[in-house]
Amino acid sequence: MSLFPIFVKLAGRRVLVVGAGPVAESKIDGLLRAGATVAIVAPTATDAIREWASQKQVEWHAREFSPADLEGTALVIAAVPAEVAGAVFAEARARGILCNSVDDPDNCDFYYPSVVNRGDLQIAISTGGHSPALAQRLRKELELQFGPEYAEWVAQLGEARRELFAADMDPEERRLRLHEIAADDSGLPRRSAAPKRQRRVGGREGMVYLIGAGPGDPELLTLKALRILGQAGVVLHDDLLTPEILELIPSTARVECVGKRHNERQVTQDEINRRMCAHAKAGLIVVRLKGGDGAIFGRAGEEIDSLRAGGIPFSIVPGVTAASGAAAAAGVSLTDRRLGSALVLLTAQRCKGNPPPNWKALAELGGAAAIYMPGGHEAQLAQELMAGGMDSATPCVVVSRATRVDERVVETTVGELPQIGSLPAPAILLIGVLPVPKPASSSEKFIKSKTKFI
Ligand code: SAH
Repeated sequence: MSLFPIFVKLAGRRVLVVGAGPVAESKIDGLLRAGATVAIVAPTATDAIREWASQKQVEWHAREFSPADLEGTALVIAAVPAEVAGAVFAEARARGILCNSVDDPDNCDFYYPSVVNRGDLQIAISTGGHSPALAQRLRKELELQFGPEYAEWVAQLGEARRELFAADMDPEERRLRLHEIAADDSGLPRRSAAPKRQRRVGGREGMVYLIGAGPGDPELLTLKALRILGQAGVVLHDDLLTPEILELIPSTARVECVGKRHNERQVTQDEINRRMCAHAKAGLIVVRLKGGDGAIFGRAGEEIDSLRAGGIPFSIVPGVTAASGAAAAAGVSLTDRRLGSALVLLTAQRCKGNPPPNWKALAELGGAAAIYMPGGHEAQLAQELMAGGMDSATPCVVVSRATRVDERVVETTVGELPQIGSLPAPAILLIGVLPVPKPASSSEKFIKSKTKFI
């Protein structure tokens, strides 16, 4: 029997998730994006779920499932072993609540389709459980065909539709006009030519692409990055990559996480360099995928040196760096001619032997600074900046997880920075990017820290 396809409005509806492991985490992420009120029951949870719970984005009950949890629930997801999932499914069915048990088709009322997400354009694919691999392949192909530009175009079509409905016109004429504008894709932003599907260059030698993936939002990936990713034979990525971006890697590519946090045995930079060269020599298209722009605090220099030394052809694809993502999140301009004429990018983590930054020079230079990797060093940074001559009232903003679903923006001043504490990583500190506050009498109003959840 075929499945009945629907798109469900979950905004404000309670969804129960039983289980809080990595699989549950990805489902919860999607539920939050659909605006659902998510309740979770599980004795233990992943760090991300704990973080969501501490930020009150989800309700987490640290215990086993009990049938009473189903009260007032619209949907249930059981991301737990089959024995528990079976019980959850039975209790949900008794109450007429639809249930999905992850990877357990017998205990499912509905399945997750493979989805191409382009803003409000969502293309869902199902093979009725016969071949998830085919569904994945089709998704990748559709993703290449319908690029990120469709998100904006669909929004524009919606706007045009509303205008036509507001206008006083003949309904038949309106219908024809609506079809006409949907057929005319000249309003779409231009894209590069369709990717070549070969994974080897000239049949012999491979090639390495050093690609910056931006700060997290997959729509901030460049069209070039997306196109090359579609041709990748192997992808070596770091920890900063969001699941949404990793999902864009074709299923035919081998994926190796070489980030520091996900590997118990840390993959050294030498090992990364060695793997890149070896894969390329084996004839593969190698994508070295990094958060932000790979050439900004991303060790690209060492990788370029080793590729040059190995005689491996390579190409660099820049990405949107965290400072730009953070400025956009905070609604500020990174440079402002009314404030100064410089923008300095700094890191709070220093390579052994490198001298500390010349804070005095920074204070004298004026303008703005973006301090990468400030986590845990806020108090020391504030102290060093002020000792270097920076005014304690200089405005600054800390942006945690810029452009991601759980982005946070806290505005403060250099003097008050230590009181904020560390925000969830990755976070970045922008200094001198907001309008300078008014003199003493009114400054208190300005200094109030504010947290903005998106
Ligand atoms: N190559 C990256 C920076 C790597 S260093 C880029 O160009 O952005 C890692 C640091 O980048 C983090 O500690 C944090 O300071 C910053 N960062 C990366 N992604 C971020 C994000 N989404 N939000 C805030 N800071 C981010």
